[in-house]
Formats: sequence, C-alpha cells, structure tokens
Amino acid sequence: MKLFHLNYLSIKVMKKLITIIIMKITMREADVVVIGAGPGGYVAAIRAAQIGKRVVLIEKDSLGGECLNYGCIPSKALIEVSKIFYRIEKVKNIGITVTDLQLDLKKTQQWKMNVVKRLNSGIKLLCEYNGVEIIYGKAEIVSEKEILVEQEDSKINIKVNNIIIATGSKPKKLEKLEVDGKLILNSKEILELQEPPDSLLIVGAGAIGLEIGTLYSKLGTQVTIIEITNSILPGIDQEITKIVYRSMEKLGMKILLQSTINEVNKSEEKIEVKFTQNKKEHKIEISKILVAVGREPNIEGFGIEKLALELDKYSHIKVNSFMKTNIENIYAIGDVTGPPWLAHKASVQGIIAAEATDNNLRNKYDGRNVPYAIFTDPEVAVIGMSEKEVLNKGIDVKIGRFPFSANGRALTSDQYEGLVKVIVEKESERIIGIHIVGNEASELISEGSLAIESNMKDITLENTIHPHPTLSEAIKEAIKDALGRSIHTINRNETL
Ligand code: FAD
Repeated sequence: MKLFHLNYLSIKVMKKLITIIIMKITMREADVVVIGAGPGGYVAAIRAAQIGKRVVLIEKDSLGGECLNYGCIPSKALIEVSKIFYRIEKVKNIGITVTDLQLDLKKTQQWKMNVVKRLNSGIKLLCEYNGVEIIYGKAEIVSEKEILVEQEDSKINIKVNNIIIATGSKPKKLEKLEVDGKLILNSKEILELQEPPDSLLIVGAGAIGLEIGTLYSKLGTQVTIIEITNSILPGIDQEITKIVYRSMEKLGMKILLQSTINEVNKSEEKIEVKFTQNKKEHKIEISKILVAVGREPNIEGFGIEKLALELDKYSHIKVNSFMKTNIENIYAIGDVTGPPWLAHKASVQGIIAAEATDNNLRNKYDGRNVPYAIFTDPEVAVIGMSEKEVLNKGIDVKIGRFPFSANGRALTSDQYEGLVKVIVEKESERIIGIHIVGNEASELISEGSLAIESNMKDITLENTIHPHPTLSEAIKEAIKDALGRSIHTINRNETL
C-alpha cells in the first residue's frame, strides 16, 4: 500500500515536471529573427515582414530602443521645452513681456513620457499590422540557426534561417567617474531629472554632451564642459563649430578644452573635481556630472562569442555594404556596427539587411550619404564632405557661403546666428558637401541630402525656385556664391 502510494506520488510529480518543462520551453520557427527593437531592429523587422518573411522581433526592454526611450526623443522633447523657456525670456527685445515665468520640470517629464509612450505604441501597432511577432525577453544566440529567448518564467526556442543583430550601443565608461545614478550620471539618467541641477559638469564635448549642456543651461543650470581634445564636436568643420562655441559662451556655459580630470571626491550632495588645463590644476565644486565620452557596441552577454563573428579593432561587428557579417545568414545593423551613432543610419541599414535576407540587393549602404543633425543652439547639420576632407584628398572645389544674418526669414524670427557652407566639385560641378549652422538646420539639411543622393549639379539647385522668405533660400544663395553669382551677399568668388 505504502509502495503504491510512493509510486503514485512520484508519477504525479513526474507528470507535473513534464508539464512544467513543456510549458516553459516553447518551440518556434522563423525566417528572420531580429534581436533588438531600436530604430534599426524594428524597421528591419517590418520590412522583412512586408516582403513575406515570418519575422520574430525580440526586445528585452522597450520598443524603440535607446533612441525612442532614452535618447533622441526624450532629449529633443526637453530641448524644445528649454528653447521655449529661454526664448520667452528673450522676446522682450521684440515687444513681448512675460511676467512670472515658471518651469515645472516634473510636468515636462510626464509630457515627455507620454510622447515616448505614444511613439512606443505606434511601433507596436505597425509591427502587428505587418505581421511581425514581438517577443519580450533577452535573446541568446545558441547557434547560427537557433535562438533562445529568456522570459521571466519561460524560455522560447526559435529555429531560424536568418538573424539580424540590432543590439545597439551603451555609454562608454570612464575609470575615474563611475556612474552612480545620483551624482554622476549618464545620458539616460540626466534626461530623467525632476529638477534642473544648480550646476552640471559635462565630460565630453560631443553631440550628446553639448545638446544636454545647452538644454540645462537654458533652464538655469550653470554648465561647465570638459573636453580632452582641442575642439568641440570633433569631426565637424571648424567654421561651423566656432559659431556653436560662441553661442554656448553667450549662454554662460564654460567650455574647458584640452582638459583632463584628475580626481573626484563625492560628498552627500556635491562633487569636488580636480582637473588639469594648460598644465595647471584647477578645482570646482559641482552638483551633478554627466559622463558623455562616447558609446561602445552591445556585443556581450547574448552568445555571439559562440559564432566566431568578425569584429573590428573597436569591437564593432564587421559588415559588408549589405549588412552581412562574415557568417552567411547573420546580419548586423545600427550602433552595434559602429559609428556614426545615428538612428536614421540604423533604420536605413535595417531595410538593406531585411531585403538582403531575401536576396534583394537593390540597395547598398553608403556611409557618405548619411546626414548628421546636432540639436545645439544654433543647430548643426552636415551632409557629405568637409573642406578639410577635400583638401586632404586633393579635390578641386568651389566653396560658397551665405550667412543667416542676410536672410529675411532668419531676421524676422530673430534667430539669425549661423551660415550655410556648400562645397562643389569643380570638374563635375556636383554638390559634394553642405554644412549648416543655424536655426532649423536639422530640417534644412534634407535638401542637401537630396542634392547629394541624386548627384545634383550646382546649377540645378541654383535654378530651383525657393519660396520667399524662407531659411532654405540661404542654401540656394550659398550655391550662387560658389558660382560667383551671389545676389544677396558681396561676390567674393570668381564670377562665372
Ligand atoms: P538601439 O536603439 O540601442 O536599440 C537596441 C535595442 O536592442 C535596445 O532596445 C536593447 O534593449 C535591445 N537589446 C540589446 N540586447 C538585447 C538582447 N540580447 N535581447 C533582446 N534585446 C536586446 N541619433 C539620432 O539620429 N538623432 C538624435 O537626435 C540622437 N540623439 C541621441 C541622444 C542621446 C542622449 C543618445 C544616447 C543617443 C542619441 N542618438 C541620436 C543615437 C541613437 O539613439 C542611436 O544611434 C540609435 O538608437 C541606434 O539604434 P539601434 O537600433 O542600433 O540600437
């Protein structure tokens, strides 16, 4: 009787165990699995589904990735608020006086989160509509043809034909400045503050550092920027960066170039920082520090080491112009493949990879045609080659410029800092570079992208009628300047 009872029990337990195992590991099959639902991954998933693939999109955090949840969108929402707040203070000049101006950053943060949520659900809807299956959980590559997704109390095993890795990037660390989430922050945390800090030290004068610095400076924070090299926005034409530098100084931001941090001492509420500039040691006391010294690819913790994937010397996944890695059925897109760290680059690569899984090779990735937009004040936007680059390559060019201070629309909006600089290759007469610093530069640059993508000749842009009064007239005027036919500035180039 006892024996029977034991057998009965163990059969019961066994049965339960089997049910748990069956419940916990689900099996799936897919043509394409995309790991990571940032602007690279979700776009790749949608495109692959559009062309008839069975697609699974795996995300361990939130749809939209770094860009939507912690980067592009939250920063631009706060930048917009800071812009309005700051402008209201300045509009006295043009006859508007506002009294008792208040900022409720907590409310701003709620509004920002609603914007994020709205875009978030938009992505979900688009994925569902296109037939993409979204699985939330951490993906792990088991082999070239198998992926395991870990969820809280279950696992999903997927047999797959093609894998697209879109795991993005993370902030680079600095040994002396360990992020603690309270006093020393990274970009995610600084964009979630409920009050502007009294003072902020930003380490790194790249796009992220300067955008966030300008934002908080406009909200009343005393901002200091420390940069190890001798310029802000490395890689951008110095004629352009000079204007941003000057404007940041006018805002009251302190920019310390060729400076390095030596020592950091934290107390309850403040941080004491010792740094060297011009071989002299200085000391400041600060409320918060933002570490913005660049990004590095997310390549760890999800099994790629099992694959013998080729990486470059900075550990970015190496890909060809169809986003294919050295392994036949594995693709990589976006930040995980290295700079430029830009959402639109990730999305373009996503479409190329998705189509390549179907052997559709109509598109190739061409990094030269990727525009940059930096949301400082004034904004910076760039496409194509810089003056330095053409000089180094020995390309014979014509350069044209037009300042916004001579543009009617810029003056009527009382925001006329900046210029458009265009570079035209002499021999082919093609536009090969457009550099803009000024209000709405991020919107204006798409005309430059179109010009470069379509191999446009200078004369085509010159003959394109632009409405008046608009900021875009400055692009046409800069081309006219390159051609020596400038009307609204003094002609300095040889007249053609
Ligand atoms: P990500 O957006 O990083 O997405 C990767 C996703 O993969 C994440 O959601 C992550 O959770 C997921 N993931 C990683 N590992 C796994 C795993 N094992 N399993 C499942 N999921 C996984 N770019 C612009 O173009 N314009 C801007 O104005 C701009 N502003 C920015 C401001 C800030 C503060 C920051 C930090 C970045 C900004 N960027 C901007 C850069 C932009 O955010 C990135 O270039 C872009 O997000 C890269 O997209 P991605 O798809 O490659 O990766």
